[in-house]
Amino acid sequence: MKTRILKIDRHNPDKGKMRAAASVIRRGGIVVFPTETVYGIGTNALSAEAARKIYKVKGRPSDNPLIVHASDMKMASKIGIFPKRYYKIVESLWPGPITFVVKARKTVPLEVTGGLKTVALRIPEHRVALELIRESGVPIAAPSANISKKPSATNAGHAMAYFSGKVDVIIDSGAASIGIESTILNLGTFTILRPGAFPAERIAAAFGRKPIIGVAASGIADADRASAPGMKYRHYSPDTPLFLYTGAPSGLAGSMAGIKGSIAFVGSDESCRILRGRCRTIRLGSRKRPGEIARNLFDGLIKLDAVGARFAVIESFSEKGIGLGIMNRIRKAANHTQFSTAAQLKKLAARLPEAGVRTAGRKGQERRDAASGML
Ligand code: AMP
Ligand code: MG
Repeated sequence: MKTRILKIDRHNPDKGKMRAAASVIRRGGIVVFPTETVYGIGTNALSAEAARKIYKVKGRPSDNPLIVHASDMKMASKIGIFPKRYYKIVESLWPGPITFVVKARKTVPLEVTGGLKTVALRIPEHRVALELIRESGVPIAAPSANISKKPSATNAGHAMAYFSGKVDVIIDSGAASIGIESTILNLGTFTILRPGAFPAERIAAAFGRKPIIGVAASGIADADRASAPGMKYRHYSPDTPLFLYTGAPSGLAGSMAGIKGSIAFVGSDESCRILRGRCRTIRLGSRKRPGEIARNLFDGLIKLDAVGARFAVIESFSEKGIGLGIMNRIRKAANHTQFSTAAQLKKLAARLPEAGVRTAGRKGQERRDAASGML
């Protein structure tokens, strides 16, 4: 399949290009498009056949449902049933980086909901995304634009690397302004299923009620129930084995001392400065600006694989605000493998094969599996 790349200015979208992309959606084709969180891989949410294509192209398990994107409350209300007492609050928080799980109407194909009776809905805050939905005249089912388990695409370059030749259109509107996915709140149970761009603290303030945050949401443990799909799968993983440093920033250099071979470090500018000259560093931004860390995180994980290091270390961040979403992604990317001392890291490193990790896919996965469960 020939993939058409459409460069569209997010502040002044070209009508003709928008119309072309919308017609692809309407006839059940696939369009990768920008949102404020990450890029989405979308199609007509009312077509079961179109939704099946998305699972296939992403390599996504069919019980992991898609988020449906609407352009306004009227369209959203045709897809899901909002609890009356929350309607006005939802309306006030959209468009924005928060997804609500509500009861699904019969119009939604089971392929989109992963067989569930609920549906995840969001109105994105991005002009190109909104105009694409409006112009299509249908809601757009769109999970993040990444091959299943890989870091999500935050710019069109990432999306092209994943999907060139596999989708009809990729829209290029520059880098996503937030960089991690939306927060998902189940409005029935008032539980955060996935922390993300919209802070839990802001949910509590808007609803006058604290959301429940399960261990699965923090990324510490994996949920085993299909009611929290996505949480039970490994995710966001680079091919390079990645270990999470959980100690204090001041102990980082010491805990990485004495490790031989090519190592990379992914983390804050501050920590990269300390480690400069000792290993390859991939800077995510200042620790003082979590928004910057979020914006650069997936790009950093994707760049990591190009380095070809034997393994890499990533550091921890505060879990306040967007930090909860950042740490959820990081824990999953590191496959829950963590250390805080030099001895622990040495043990993890000893488990890895000597060869560099340039090859993609299963081999990288096997290395991670071998390395995990150590500590
Ligand atoms: P993605 O857009 O790739 O980040 O994935 C969408 C995520 O939304 C899935 O992995 C699920 O965790 C979540 N989701 C979508 N629909 C539902 C639903 N009906 N119930 C619970 N979670 C959902
Ligand atoms: Mg995803």
